[in-house]
Amino acid sequence: MKMLAAFLLVGFLSASSAFSQEIRRQTFLTEEFSKEQGLVKVAFFDADSTLRVSLSGSVSANGPTDVMVLPDVEIKIAELAKAGYLIAVVSNQGGIKAGAVTHEIADAALHYTIQQIAEKNADAKIHYFDYAEGSDEFRKPEKGMGLRLEAILKARGLTLDWANSFMVGDSAYKKGKDVRPNGKPGTHFSNADRLFAENLGIPFIEPTDFFGWRKDNIDVFEKVSEVREYLENKAKIQ
Ligand SMILES: [Mg+2]
Repeated sequence: MKMLAAFLLVGFLSASSAFSQEIRRQTFLTEEFSKEQGLVKVAFFDADSTLRVSLSGSVSANGPTDVMVLPDVEIKIAELAKAGYLIAVVSNQGGIKAGAVTHEIADAALHYTIQQIAEKNADAKIHYFDYAEGSDEFRKPEKGMGLRLEAILKARGLTLDWANSFMVGDSAYKKGKDVRPNGKPGTHFSNADRLFAENLGIPFIEPTDFFGWRKDNIDVFEKVSEVREYLENKAKIQ
């Protein structure tokens, strides 16, 4: 009987610690979007290889602080926040369903990414984040994460201003499948971000263009080593 009680206690403790981390997805990180504003223009951002890379080298963060914020991200985010955009991160986190990462880790790492960006520039506020853990209508290129934000805003008496919203993401032109507008072949692992924007009918911009890395011949940042090399070269020039 004592053994059973001990077993149950251990089981209870491990179950409660598994849920000890707060899930913050789909919540506003600030309350500054009030009913008076009516129309809300949204700047959507992908997370991995758009705002951050992992320090560990895995495709996405595999721990709550496995994050390196990409160069100059905080500058543009601050400009958008000051211009009145609601800044929303929409991330495919298929690793959750695949069992590679937990909800708690994906959630904590996205929240940490947002904190790190705000730490670099106090005006660089990201207001909202969401992620798709499986292969359903929420996974980009499907537009579910966009429609979910629209519904959340509607419940607050606000209207998502699609005509003035846009999407930034690195999954643009798929290798072996897509051709860029300039006629060059696609180079990317996926095209989910570009097609998400197309499905929502909003403009799409690659992070290398949006954050200004293209002029230094960056297509996509995938690894920390690439970011460090970029920053070292920048430091040499200055
Ligand atoms: Mg990405």
